[in-house]
Amino acid sequence: MSAIDDLPPLREVIRRHELSARKSLGQNFLLDLNLTARIARASGELEGVDVIEIGPGPGGLTRALLALGAQRVIAVEKDSRAIAALTEVAARYPGRLEVLEADALEADLSLHLSGAPVRIVANLPYNIATALLVGWLTPDSWPPFWQSLTLMFQREVAERIVAAPGSDAYGRLGVLAGWRTQPKILFDVAPTAFVPPPKVTSSVVHLVPRTEYEPCEGRHLEAVTQAAFGQRRKMLRQSLKSVFRDPVAALDSAGIEPTRRAEEIDVKGFAALARALAAERG
Ligand code: SAM
Repeated sequence: MSAIDDLPPLREVIRRHELSARKSLGQNFLLDLNLTARIARASGELEGVDVIEIGPGPGGLTRALLALGAQRVIAVEKDSRAIAALTEVAARYPGRLEVLEADALEADLSLHLSGAPVRIVANLPYNIATALLVGWLTPDSWPPFWQSLTLMFQREVAERIVAAPGSDAYGRLGVLAGWRTQPKILFDVAPTAFVPPPKVTSSVVHLVPRTEYEPCEGRHLEAVTQAAFGQRRKMLRQSLKSVFRDPVAALDSAGIEPTRRAEEIDVKGFAALARALAAERG
């Protein structure tokens, strides 16, 4: 029996279901239910909330989310070996855990939501973590369907998400996250907390949508930041040649000196460039 519920300890679950960790699926499991409860608590109020969890694996975080009162958890897992273990968790919490065996990059979750507030909480597989985050940050309409994201990343990625202009970590991720959300790093998690331990420290990041943000389209912001930071040491009049017919005119319309470099430009500046791109593309 564990500290948060009457289900077996995770080590036993992993042994019984032969869930040896697979690198190809980014599997680094959290076995300490006190730690998974800390992550679940950090996501905010869970009462009356639908939680989307990506990659529940053996179910440590899933169990914490349910024990702490999430109305429902919709858990998307690609590894078929984990489904039997998760079915046992579902039986302990009747009607509250829906397990979808699917690739989170392709799954359409809208059909599974009840209309209650949604929080996304996950210890993400590192190989698709940024792709998922960018997808949640750049839908056409805003505010998004979720109220908060509480996500585990490698520390270095977490630093890029919260980075401000002028720092080495500032890049495409920092602009996209800062554009529409207020991101912050909540706490670090040592490699020893995972099985198997990853090479680097991880961090839990919490992102809350901004109600007001610089108007522009995500795809244009992605295009300009990709070009600008793809050649971050170059002046923008040079690096933006790959997206604009006339980068100097675009920079001029955005009120940015053409000799500036990407890391000197704040979110407002990039949003102005994204609008210039929209105008050029018609
Ligand atoms: N939540 C568990 C925990 O904290 O112990 C496992 C976290 S582990 C870092 C990442 C999980 O994501 C694994 O269970 C893995 O099988 C799953 N996963 C990997 N790629 C996935 C994908 N494309 N879609 C859904 N789940 C995926």
